[in-house]
Amino acid sequence: MSTLPMVQAPASAVAGLLCVTSDELTAWLAAHGAKPLRARQLRRWLLQAGAQTFDAMTDLPQALRRALAASFVPLETQVARHLTADDGTHKLLLRLRDGKLIECVLIQEANRRTACISTQVGCAMGCVFCASGLDGIERNLTSGEILEQLVHARHLPLWERGDRTDQRLTNIVVMGMGEPLANLDNLLEALEVAGAIDGLGIGARHITISTVGLPAKIRRLADLKKQYHLAVSLHAPDDTLRNQIVPTNDKTGLAAILEAAEYFFEKTGRQVTFEYVLLGGVNDAADHARALAGLLQGRKAHVNLIPFNDVAGLAYRRPSPQALADFQATLRRHGVSVKVRKRKGAQIDAACGQLRRAVVAS
Ligand code: SAH
Repeated sequence: MSTLPMVQAPASAVAGLLCVTSDELTAWLAAHGAKPLRARQLRRWLLQAGAQTFDAMTDLPQALRRALAASFVPLETQVARHLTADDGTHKLLLRLRDGKLIECVLIQEANRRTACISTQVGCAMGCVFCASGLDGIERNLTSGEILEQLVHARHLPLWERGDRTDQRLTNIVVMGMGEPLANLDNLLEALEVAGAIDGLGIGARHITISTVGLPAKIRRLADLKKQYHLAVSLHAPDDTLRNQIVPTNDKTGLAAILEAAEYFFEKTGRQVTFEYVLLGGVNDAADHARALAGLLQGRKAHVNLIPFNDVAGLAYRRPSPQALADFQATLRRHGVSVKVRKRKGAQIDAACGQLRRAVVAS
């Protein structure tokens, strides 16, 4: 594992180009006598070529490059800390323009490069085992801040080693800090750009949105009829236990979440994944597995089991290997499709919100 020192540069005073609206950019270009098509050209430089300065944008007139540099920065988020694990997982702590910190992760596998991105600073959902919500929520991320995480993840190798090979991202998982469906408009705006051919070219089928389970928002997402993959964090097979683990369940209840997931499947044809974090001695008993199988009986669903990742200051523990194997076997016996999530970047606190907490606390 390697750690780069904390970068102390102050947050940028001016806006990043991906963080201004397209109307604002169009107006700026017109006011500076530049053609409207420059907007697309700029976006390609930032998203696809990984340009870090306006000067690097060699097919733009010099006067325009100078004017851009006087009004904007290419990216307004800065890498405050960068950790690399032996398995090729990179974790970035990004400093936003207002000084707040967020995390994003790049997971590299044989034929996949997946960015795990955040949608909020902190989280309001308060799941008892999760580091992201321990200090509550500060604010939503803008669509530009969401997009910039993808730019950092994609161009990291290029910026670090001058490696010119195109390292496209193949997948996005919206599983970082925050509740994506509580910031849906900004997320969708960012994902539209990510999906565009002249953006990052990552289609909806390669994008997973993970939610605590907000039924009205799941329905809204379903009505868009996009091919996003939806993952719903269940963590318990009944309301009594789920109320203890996922406080927002008090207001929603499991039944409404499962109905909304069904609706999502009907509208999009995409099977929903249910995530289940296994907390040793809390929700990992054979009875829980049987109840979960009963709950999902007859539904087109897949279960991802996630052994708890330790969080400093929390007393929860991982399930024993035996409990994990038994839980999985019970679900299988009842005909439920199930996998255990592979652990990536364990060395670098890859569970969401952990690195930020460690830095904020230090
Ligand atoms: N708010 C979204 C995204 C959260 S992060 C949601 O609730 O789905 C993605 C997944 O990681 C969620 O299932 C979340 O419950 C899980 N997670 C959070 N902290 C964890 C930890 N310490 N160990 C294991 N999984 C964790």
